[in-house]
Amino acid sequence: MKIEANVDLPAGTGPFCVAKRLRSTTAIRRCPGVVALLSGGLDSTLAVRLMADLGLHVLALNFVGPFCTCSPRKHGGCRLAVSVAQSMGVELRVMSKGLDYLRIVEQPRFGHGRGLNPCIDCRIYMLRKAAEVMRETGAVCVVTGEVLGQRPMSQHRRALDLIERESGLTGRLLRPLSARRLPPTIPEREGLIDRSRMLDLMGRARSPQLVLAKERGVEIFGCPSGGCLLTDPIVARRVKDLFDHCPDWDERDARLTTLGRHFRLHPDLKVIVGRDAAENVRLEQMAGTLPVVTFTQAPGPTAVLRGRWESGALAMVGRLLRHFAPKVTDECVEVCLKHDGQEMTQVVRQAATAGDVKAWTI
Ligand code: SF4
Repeated sequence: MKIEANVDLPAGTGPFCVAKRLRSTTAIRRCPGVVALLSGGLDSTLAVRLMADLGLHVLALNFVGPFCTCSPRKHGGCRLAVSVAQSMGVELRVMSKGLDYLRIVEQPRFGHGRGLNPCIDCRIYMLRKAAEVMRETGAVCVVTGEVLGQRPMSQHRRALDLIERESGLTGRLLRPLSARRLPPTIPEREGLIDRSRMLDLMGRARSPQLVLAKERGVEIFGCPSGGCLLTDPIVARRVKDLFDHCPDWDERDARLTTLGRHFRLHPDLKVIVGRDAAENVRLEQMAGTLPVVTFTQAPGPTAVLRGRWESGALAMVGRLLRHFAPKVTDECVEVCLKHDGQEMTQVVRQAATAGDVKAWTI
């Protein structure tokens, strides 16, 4: 199986180049290409399975971003999506949700869900990218695992229509799990995709999909709750705090919202404290040009500062670090702030109280 990560393929060299060559022959009518969104969850996995079972050439797209719960760096894409694509022998292209996506999270046209998840805008964003790949590769449509009526925000009929229209995929967006409850797409009308083999699932029940998975021999798929941290109330609060307090936020700030404990010491200063040794290392790696504070002679958490700080702030950060270093029993302990090649130290005598910590927690 071929996996591509964040790569824009030159025309004619993409995974569909074979399909492109075939397009001028009658063979393409038997084996057109489709582009499919693949998260690795049950529904998208089944949608890809259905397409592959029709003999269609599937290029799966796996979108990864700062709020995915998977570990894209380690696995070259969401590990589930990679496993699913491998198990089906379909090609996978990993697509990055970057700064353009984060701006949508900040100000979605169609609003947020219960957390800070802009599901409708997010679907439109991914599908617009998929539409580009469809055009680039000469695929006949984009396929998703959406099921009519399954998710309250983004899968009711009006939302599905809106998403199709706004993504520029009118007539080219196939939802095979519910296709027979939706108007036929262009490739179905043209006979390139057999509509009679599409399904008519609807509603929130998962059992029909589980039965289908068994029938089709699909054994690898993720849990239905998905892997998006924007639905997590804690991460949602941090991301909102970031948008509210940090006008020059960037991708690193977004990534940092998923790591450590977060505190706002004053409107212009946020402190992120590692929860264990691994997080301390990760925070230092991600800090880049941001100030980092650690104990000079005792083991303890690492703090990364984001915003405006002055020497008085270091005492507060030191008290915060002491609060999370219960093994530090010396009366006086020193913390050191490193920034821009400079170092500044501060003796800390007291830990922040539980009340302080609660008041500062984002
Ligand atoms: S849950 Fe997250 S990844 Fe899924 S559609 Fe909503 S915003 Fe996008």
